Amino acid sequence: MQNPTAYRNVDRIIDGTPASDGRGVKLYRVLGQPSLMELDPFLLLDEFRSDKASDYIGGFPDHPHRGFQTVTYMLAGRMRHKDNQGHEGVLEPGGIQWMNAGRGIVHSEMPEQEAGLLHGFQLWVNLPAAEKMSQPFYSEFGRDEIPVEEKNGSEIRVIAGAIENGVAGPVTGIAGNPLYLDVHLQAEAAFEQDITSGHNAMLYLYEGSADLESSPETLQIAKGQLATFHREGDAVRLTAGNSGCRFLLLACAVLEEPVARYGPFVMNTESEIRQAIRDYSSGKF
Ligand code: FE
Repeated sequence: MQNPTAYRNVDRIIDGTPASDGRGVKLYRVLGQPSLMELDPFLLLDEFRSDKASDYIGGFPDHPHRGFQTVTYMLAGRMRHKDNQGHEGVLEPGGIQWMNAGRGIVHSEMPEQEAGLLHGFQLWVNLPAAEKMSQPFYSEFGRDEIPVEEKNGSEIRVIAGAIENGVAGPVTGIAGNPLYLDVHLQAEAAFEQDITSGHNAMLYLYEGSADLESSPETLQIAKGQLATFHREGDAVRLTAGNSGCRFLLLACAVLEEPVARYGPFVMNTESEIRQAIRDYSSGKF
């Protein structure tokens, strides 16, 4: 007889906090804020969601990154991306951009619209020390390139990693073998996903409500909350509330390395941060 699945217990459920970044872009900071600064290797998760142009039109003009990856996933609206190494493109609704900043890039991320809903997420994923000074690269896929599994009206979009039936996301070859799912569940539908041993997992619910399997009791999560899970256990499980739910499920191998963080630079030591600032100000990105 096989052992029953050991579900991971919920560690914490936290609320995000309203924040502003770039040129006055109003956003909701889920991770990377006082309640939870990081969940190794995740450094930040922002949700931007507004149909008021004044909340987003300033965008994110030229700014640098070094030492980690920025992952942008759009649900509605369009974002034009342009860097100092000749890479330019528009991220369309349903599209993902996994950007390895590595040793350094300078880029802008600007809304490509003057009205209408802009809704999406940006995730920062730390790089292992050995890859912090790697060549920058992009992994970009449009809506049609992201597999959607449908079952009883529920949908799972597989951006990175794989689900139970072997369907895998187009983003591959990333340090830590991340899992990135966007899951839409009908009312009271159940969902279960294996999490690789040694990976951290978190779930951000951006619509509806759900009950998370946990011991000694299930825990309710509401719209705008992030749940983090203990590292012990093989899978996470939840049941959607009576109006259904939508959430991102993210997991990745932990680094367990020192983190030195200064704005858009995330290195292992303070001296590497000082070097990043010097390199950026002397135009070496
Ligand atoms: Fe950026």
